[in-house]
Amino acid sequence: MKIAANDLKRQHDLHAEEYNAKAVEVLDSGWYILGKEVKEFEKEFAEYTESKYCVGCASGLDALQIAFRVIGVHEGDEVIVCSNAYIACDMGVTLNGGTPVMVEPDEYDNLDAEKIEERITDRTKAILAVHLYGQSCNMTRIMEIAKKYDLKVIEDCAQAHGTTWNGRKVGSIGDIGCWSFYPTKNLGGFGDGGALTTNNETYAEEFRVIRNYGSKKLHYENDIIGMNSRLDELQAGLLRVKLKYLDELNEERMKIAARYDREVSNPHIRPLQTRPGSNNIYHQYVIHSDRRDELMNYLKENEIGTIIHYPIPPHLQKAYAYLGYKEGDLPIAERYAKEVLSLPMYNGMTQEEQTYVIEKLNSFK
Ligand SMILES: *Cc1c(COP(=O)(O)O)cnc(C)c1O
Repeated sequence: MKIAANDLKRQHDLHAEEYNAKAVEVLDSGWYILGKEVKEFEKEFAEYTESKYCVGCASGLDALQIAFRVIGVHEGDEVIVCSNAYIACDMGVTLNGGTPVMVEPDEYDNLDAEKIEERITDRTKAILAVHLYGQSCNMTRIMEIAKKYDLKVIEDCAQAHGTTWNGRKVGSIGDIGCWSFYPTKNLGGFGDGGALTTNNETYAEEFRVIRNYGSKKLHYENDIIGMNSRLDELQAGLLRVKLKYLDELNEERMKIAARYDREVSNPHIRPLQTRPGSNNIYHQYVIHSDRRDELMNYLKENEIGTIIHYPIPPHLQKAYAYLGYKEGDLPIAERYAKEVLSLPMYNGMTQEEQTYVIEKLNSFK
């Protein structure tokens, strides 16, 4: 049996008629940028995330770049980021001239709140809380620390559409939530897309101006130097369809995860636990293994696809060589990069496929 690490066609097929009808509707409307679909999606997604405002943009990275710009991160300013997260987190900071200060993850593979304070300096401006793999950071501790040192909190929710912390949706707890609708995300579009959420009206207004060439109007009156970072009407329309099913789609992933939790039993495989206080929408089903590369090859020989999120931590990437980190500086992130593996987990994955993966995992010696 051949099993891909991810199969987006399966998810599409669950509601294909509705997507196809919406695509035709938007194409036939004759209006493709900043129209009714974006407006409606922003309203619906603000409601879903329990935020007052939502502003669409072109990608998750753009959302991060815009968020750090709006809170005033400039050259020389520092932002606390998690050392094992996706490199977009760091780029959102450095595109504004800021410096990411990397803090190691805890046993839930998320920013270790207890290690933040020792890295705060008089140049620290903000904490980026990345809700990695689908579960929430310890937002209670992060908000306490932010309050104590007068820092802003940006939440990277690109892997957390529907994640909650003590019952409250992420993306509305800190100052700004940044979202990606890249096709593989739990709320994935059919191309690139992103959004920002906030309860701050001034921020929301600034997001709208920055994403549209620095203009409050649709065209030709530019108050500041902005970006072209708009969510397309077509994407917004399709995301509105998927948003209706998001909780259902998340539930399906949770069911697959629960089965893996229950039935995978192998001393070389340690499934990532979920932090008490958070739910887990399982953007990825991540395991740690002391023999990760062997396990990955073995699964590949059995036609089971897996992915490593992420094989090289940002501080060891060429792009960030100038920050001066070297191997051994962030040992937990470096170890996790050698241990983590994301198992096949997608909407529309059949029981038989799950059984096959579980059997193969259990017979790995
Ligand atoms: C996907 C992702 C991003 C970037 O989103 P894009 O839409 O691909 O730019 C940022 N942060 C995290 C944690 C992500 O997973």
